Amino acid sequence: MTERRADARWPEERVWARHGRRTGSALIIGAGAVGGFLAEELARIGFSPLLLVDPDTLAVENLVRHPLGAQAVGQPKATGLAEKIRRDFPPCHATGLQRDFLEMSEAEQRALLLSADVVVAATDSIACQRHVNRVALAVGAPAVYPAVWVDHRIRDAEVGEILWVLPGGRTPCYECAAAFRQSASDAQAARGARVDIQLVVLATAQIVSALAHPEDERSVSLDPDSNAVYLHGLAPTSPAVRDAFPTSGLSSRTVRVSFPAQPCPACHGQRHTLSPGALRALEAGLPYDGEPEAERPPLTVFAVIALIVVAFFVASIIHTAHG
Ligand SMILES: [Zn+2]
Repeated sequence: MTERRADARWPEERVWARHGRRTGSALIIGAGAVGGFLAEELARIGFSPLLLVDPDTLAVENLVRHPLGAQAVGQPKATGLAEKIRRDFPPCHATGLQRDFLEMSEAEQRALLLSADVVVAATDSIACQRHVNRVALAVGAPAVYPAVWVDHRIRDAEVGEILWVLPGGRTPCYECAAAFRQSASDAQAARGARVDIQLVVLATAQIVSALAHPEDERSVSLDPDSNAVYLHGLAPTSPAVRDAFPTSGLSSRTVRVSFPAQPCPACHGQRHTLSPGALRALEAGLPYDGEPEAERPPLTVFAVIALIVVAFFVASIIHTAHG
């Protein structure tokens, strides 16, 4: 009843009068700087419901780069953020869960991932990111992994990285991309300022939206040949990353992360052992469920040949007997 009144008060045609609504539901694991701002962006482009999962409470040192303010210090980040989103933007049904994803039962983890159109892993724990990857692969959920590079040769959060993984072996997974991420860390662990992190958040929101609406003309980031975006912020480029970002300042690169040379322990994908059918599907960006019927040995053809041979044999015996 309350929801119906809220919907009548916030009609879609007025709320999204300035841009077309992009519907969808998202699960955001990690409600820190990246997850928090991402939730707000997704709410305002139209995503609902949003589910935020984070075990932590807001600390004073979080204030410089978190959507929640001083009045929320000591409150759980997940429930505090969900409440703020509902208060500031009532059309979005946001829910917070103060839980550690790694400590949930497998059934709970799977149910959570299955409940959303797109999953975002924005935690400060590599172990948790890797576990989300494994559960997402198991249930077939599209997942996005935003991060910033941490490397002593560059400034914290100078380079942002957003990797997305599509189910059905269409893209390499989070583990496959390990070689690409050698100097990357997770966004919350870095000391980047809010102005650096926001760039990663805005790009992540566009990618989540594109995963939910691949047919939309605004979903250009999801061309079938790419599965990661690298961003350099509006700051001088450090010598260590000039090969990747030759010009100083703001730039982005959309790339295809390859399958690893050895079989991936999480998705079993491998660069050299994919069958021709799987490679074709991969290159075309299509789901792959095994070799198509036509490429299997055609049993009906064998049966027809066998029948003809038997018929000839019988005919020759009859002919010999009559002769
Ligand atoms: Zn993999």
